[in-house]
Amino acid sequence: MDERTNGRASAPAKVDERALWEKCAAFHGHVCGGLTIGFKAALYAIELLALTFSEDEKVVCIAENDACGVDAIQAALGCSIGKGNLLFHMRGKQAFSFYNRRTGQAVRLVLRDRPEGMTREQSLAYYQALSPAEMFDVKPATIRLPERAQLFQSRRCSRCGEVTGENWLRLRGGEAFCLDCLSRYDRFDV
Ligand SMILES: [Zn+2]
Ligand SMILES: [Zn+2]
Repeated sequence: MDERTNGRASAPAKVDERALWEKCAAFHGHVCGGLTIGFKAALYAIELLALTFSEDEKVVCIAENDACGVDAIQAALGCSIGKGNLLFHMRGKQAFSFYNRRTGQAVRLVLRDRPEGMTREQSLAYYQALSPAEMFDVKPATIRLPERAQLFQSRRCSRCGEVTGENWLRLRGGEAFCLDCLSRYDRFDV
């Protein structure tokens, strides 16, 4: 455990919600109901997992959609694809699992049903007015977190000659092919 955080492990970050929302809106480029869903999910994660902003790399989000809300999670929690702590398990659900690598705690937040037939504006107002606890069911996080990013060797594809990470190459007849070249050799999948 990082000793800087020892002794205050259970104190969630003090959140300036207004400022955090402005940051999400600026990052996303517009405000909408979907952004609000991700924003409230992030707030809930901060509360439930006692997240602190000083160590955003220890927070991992697995999103089950790639809609507007994911941008709020990136802006609010610092989860990003490049850092490897924003992952996707694409299921077309408004569900987000959050993991605190420091404590090992995790939750999966699943958006509850909303009234049907709302306009964009009504949806935004509806979600803005709800608390995170009113919006989401809290379930156990069941998706296993991958190990931290592994480094793979790279080598050239035998056909196109482009340098490719080993985990993306496939062997055929003793030669290594990238996935794009491999598909051209597959007469059962054209
Ligand atoms: Zn949006
Ligand atoms: Zn190739």
